[in-house]
Amino acid sequence: MRVEGYRLHRWGGELVWETFEIPDPGPDEALIRVEACGIGLTVLNCLRGDLADERATLPRVPGHEIVGRVVAVGNGVTGLAPGQRVMVYFYLACGVCLPCRSGRDSLCQNLAGWVGVHRDGGYAPYAVLPARNLLPLPESIPAPLATAIPDAIATPLHVCKTRAQVRPGDRVVVIGAGGGVGIHMVQMARLFGASVVGLEAHETKFDLIREAGGIPVLSHDFSRLDLRGIWGGERPTVIIDLVGTPASLTWAMNTLGPGGRMVVLTTFRDVTFPADPRQMVFRELTLLGSRYASKAELMEAAEMVAQGVIRPVVTQVVPPQRVEEVHHALRAGELKGRGAVVWDAER
Ligand SMILES: [Zn+2]
Repeated sequence: MRVEGYRLHRWGGELVWETFEIPDPGPDEALIRVEACGIGLTVLNCLRGDLADERATLPRVPGHEIVGRVVAVGNGVTGLAPGQRVMVYFYLACGVCLPCRSGRDSLCQNLAGWVGVHRDGGYAPYAVLPARNLLPLPESIPAPLATAIPDAIATPLHVCKTRAQVRPGDRVVVIGAGGGVGIHMVQMARLFGASVVGLEAHETKFDLIREAGGIPVLSHDFSRLDLRGIWGGERPTVIIDLVGTPASLTWAMNTLGPGGRMVVLTTFRDVTFPADPRQMVFRELTLLGSRYASKAELMEAAEMVAQGVIRPVVTQVVPPQRVEEVHHALRAGELKGRGAVVWDAER
């Protein structure tokens, strides 16, 4: 099948709108019609070559937050049928290693890469993907909103439920609270019973943070940040850093209260920060890495949205021709929550 969509021909280069061939699904693969695909910072990181930059993987259709419908399945595929609504798991996990079998899919020992980096993704109207990457999605959730589930909502669920184990009484700080993952992190931490402060460098996103149940605080200068007035002098018990700069990481470790947990999930090559053993011991701090989410967590995240307890924040929904507008807003830090490209409107 020939389609028109976006492809990348050089890591760090421009997206090219062009006509290309979508192959038939091979063994253990499925062809899906893409209804919509999320647009967030991770896509920009992928385009820059931050996740992988082998030339052999080009040209490539980017986009991993995919929602669609199965069109055809290859040999050996069971449990998926044409017409079925699905969302896509981001990591190309093997499904058979010990971490995969124990529900820690993002720690797969045979990881074959990522959708949108090592396999063509959702910046085209159709995609062929491993059948094991396709998870059922309730019919009731509109496609643009559903694009937030596989990453922007599932990742906060993994952080709050599995890693930090947020519970009533926790005082949670989300650094970078107005972004796609951040705004759902605020909602998720509230859902798990915490009081939440959302640090954000752009005041235009404060209303969104309030609507998510958080207390917005301006954070363009960490050296002058003081939260002591907010919780009656009490320090935060959990700090979730989505910014990942030396300044934000150092502030988080210095600010946590006794027994505090610090969650790190945004990384950049060569960015490190000093951890002071004396601080860690005296306050019994826990430093937690958090990597994406499990397939089961994606399905639980979808159920949360279907039940209305988590509300997807997708503020810019555009046709394919306007994808670069959303990329521009993201680079400028101006996109509130997530963006999405919708393919279905054209058909
Ligand atoms: Zn595996």
